[in-house]
Amino acid sequence: MPTNRTFTMIKPDAILDGFTGPIIQQIEEAGFKIVAMKKVHLSAADAGKFYEVHKERPFYGELCEYMSSNPIIPMVLEKENAVEDFRVLIGATDPAKAAEGTIRKRFARSLGSNAIHGSDSDENAAIEGAFFFTATELK
Ligand code: ADP
Ligand code: MG
Repeated sequence: MPTNRTFTMIKPDAILDGFTGPIIQQIEEAGFKIVAMKKVHLSAADAGKFYEVHKERPFYGELCEYMSSNPIIPMVLEKENAVEDFRVLIGATDPAKAAEGTIRKRFARSLGSNAIHGSDSDENAAIEGAFFFTATELK
């Protein structure tokens, strides 16, 4: 995946709360193009695979249960400096600490149910995008 791309997922809480539209609008207004998008309901095992890097952390079980509780919307996005700019757009992991106007500040429920994912490096963006989309879908 080119380095001007990042990977995101709208998480179950934001979809259940009816924020899919406003979140996608904020992403597009910030200059990101949607390269690929779908709605999927992960199994607990697949959520576990996606978050394998966190498997030693105390919240791993809760996180996998939550991410497989209801559908999510994974997307690959394109923009110059995508990974870094998208992390700024979503805000801090804990919405209580996220800056005003960020997606997590506006739409997240809590630290665990924090509305949206954003890759933390170009390498992880490529791995995470490939978890959900084929090479043809990412052309
Ligand atoms: P980020 O999503 O901001 O990169 P992390 O990679 O540290 O954050 O964590 C992955 C996800 O795990 C978070 O987005 C959040 O949903 C959940 N999480 C992180 N820390 C905690 C915690 N202390 N308690 C519960 N859930 C957490
Ligand atoms: Mg992370």
